[in-house]
Amino acid sequence: MLRVGLTGGIGSGKSVVAARLAGHGAVLVDSDVIAREVVAPGTEGLRAVLDAFGDRVLGPDGGLDRPALAAVVFDDPAARARLNGIIHPRVRERAAALITAAPAEAIVVNDVPLLVEVGLAPTYHLVLVVAASRDTRVARLVRDRGMPPADAAARIAAQADDARRAAAADVLLRNDGELAELYAAVDGLWRDRLVPYESNLRHRRV
Ligand code: ATP
Repeated sequence: MLRVGLTGGIGSGKSVVAARLAGHGAVLVDSDVIAREVVAPGTEGLRAVLDAFGDRVLGPDGGLDRPALAAVVFDDPAARARLNGIIHPRVRERAAALITAAPAEAIVVNDVPLLVEVGLAPTYHLVLVVAASRDTRVARLVRDRGMPPADAAARIAAQADDARRAAAADVLLRNDGELAELYAAVDGLWRDRLVPYESNLRHRRV
């Protein structure tokens, strides 16, 4: 099994890269999806969030009221840290379990937005970073997600910069051009690096 950690700033193109790799046969472990699962109705994670922030963050359907929670942590770094302290360990534990459960010959791609910030690079065989210029990312977030430009810029500013991510990268994919160029780069990466790497790992172990 080859464990690939996929990261990049907001709007860089991580999801596009992950989907393309899945099309080739990679097993995806998506931290955004898991972050929702660990606080789904009835989970111990939701209980912990309610214990910390009270029933004001509980929605009428028994699930988390995300806008209410966002409002609570918006201007309060201590509350945000507390929330992250509940969510992040549970996401890491579940991601690790899913990776362990993948088939022995799998190429597992774990999409982790804050991989570099949290210092998780050593837990992967290979760290894949997707990078795009700030202006390109703002334009994508405005165009595709309807985000106001100032919000997009603020979110980008709150993350590690591309230089820091690039320093942690084993493979850096630049995504400032057309989608077709990105697809070609991902296809080449799969064929020339990931498949041979996985195969090497497996044969060395036998
Ligand atoms: P987030 O961190 O918010 O999850 P992300 O890194 O996963 O973001 P994507 O969702 O993959 O980013 O890409 C952001 C948007 O930009 C999407 O709508 C995607 O379709 C689009 N996009 C990505 N790459 C390109 C490209 N090369 N050309 C045009 N559009 C692109």
